[in-house]
Amino acid sequence: MTCAVIIVAAGSGSRARRSSDKVAKQYVALGGKPVLSRTLETFLKNEQVDCIQVVIGPQDGQLYETAIAPLMSGPLAGLAKTKLQPPATGGETRQISVLKGLEAISGKKPQHVLIHDAARPFVTDDILSRCFLALQTHKACLVATPVTDTIKKVDDQGAIIETIDRSTLWSAQTPQAFDYSFIRHAHKRASDQGIHTFTDDAAVAEWMGETVHIVQGSPANRKLTSQDDLTMAETMIAASAPQPLTDIRVGTGYDVHAFDEGSAVIIGGISIPHSHKLKGHSDADVGLHAITDAILGAIADGDIGTHFPPTDPQWKGAASDLFLKDAVRRVKDRGGKISNIDLTIICEAPKIGPHRPEMRAAIADICDMSIDRISVKATTSEKLGFTGRKEGIAALATATVGLPELPD
Ligand code: MG
Repeated sequence: MTCAVIIVAAGSGSRARRSSDKVAKQYVALGGKPVLSRTLETFLKNEQVDCIQVVIGPQDGQLYETAIAPLMSGPLAGLAKTKLQPPATGGETRQISVLKGLEAISGKKPQHVLIHDAARPFVTDDILSRCFLALQTHKACLVATPVTDTIKKVDDQGAIIETIDRSTLWSAQTPQAFDYSFIRHAHKRASDQGIHTFTDDAAVAEWMGETVHIVQGSPANRKLTSQDDLTMAETMIAASAPQPLTDIRVGTGYDVHAFDEGSAVIIGGISIPHSHKLKGHSDADVGLHAITDAILGAIADGDIGTHFPPTDPQWKGAASDLFLKDAVRRVKDRGGKISNIDLTIICEAPKIGPHRPEMRAAIADICDMSIDRISVKATTSEKLGFTGRKEGIAALATATVGLPELPD
């Protein structure tokens, strides 16, 4: 056992109670998920966390079970069953609750412990990584952010006494990260001496004379204490949720390349042995060019020549998956998704049918799509026209793209 986590969820959260849902902030649903379950997700998914001990209020057993229910049956169920310990019951103050949590995991003999507020659901893997790094060289670490507001000292009449130099001030967040034996000993000693009112664990470590090192936090890692915090958190979650792709677009692409002397043609991302090659500035992949234009057409973002001018020497001999990948990226950059691609290749020879599975797989790979969304068809032109006279190959593609609906 190397790293345990204590999640402090024993506070009654009276400041953040909502009139509509009379529960403490860690049990309030944000974007349809309880705050506690959001907080737990980050620690469950983190590979360096071995065990998680939640400390809850004496009356909150049912609230706790309800809050973790989605975790116990969802995709994180395996991790939850392995890492999550039965909840410990907290005490009158945060300090007492943390000690109870530390004692509950003593049998696990962790080397390190992170102590985190249940009501900080926006803690990130980056913050945890910085904690683990700091623990390699320090016994006591505190996630914090520099104070950005100007700080005033005020008397009891509301008059400013002085403006405090903020350049050395930091706002404490959690996790607070420690050598487990050290912080357990420190908490136990404070408790034995009748001190129960330290408001964070760094203060307990400081009281023991240990130097506590700062780990960079983030403004988003806020503690939800007021109704305003909950409203802001709701907005943050709504803004980060994927938008439904209701703006459905269809694009078409058409391309032709003439035969030239050679021994293989490149079509649909694969090389097919043939009596000729296709002539072109790039690798002349007529199939990928048509698909690229279909995608660009769907998002109304020019065509292949706009982004990769044939006059530009840097694209001479270029593999055409580069052009297609760029079109796919343009869709992703707009928050969209390609739903399907349908490619038709028009030629008398070579025979496309035997190469269809390999071609579909290559296109799916380039576009990062599932193969069942990629269709490749082939036809001759009954010996009519330039394709019928075997002067070259034509390709026609259709792509469907979903984009998020934007206001007009
Ligand atoms: Mg072309």
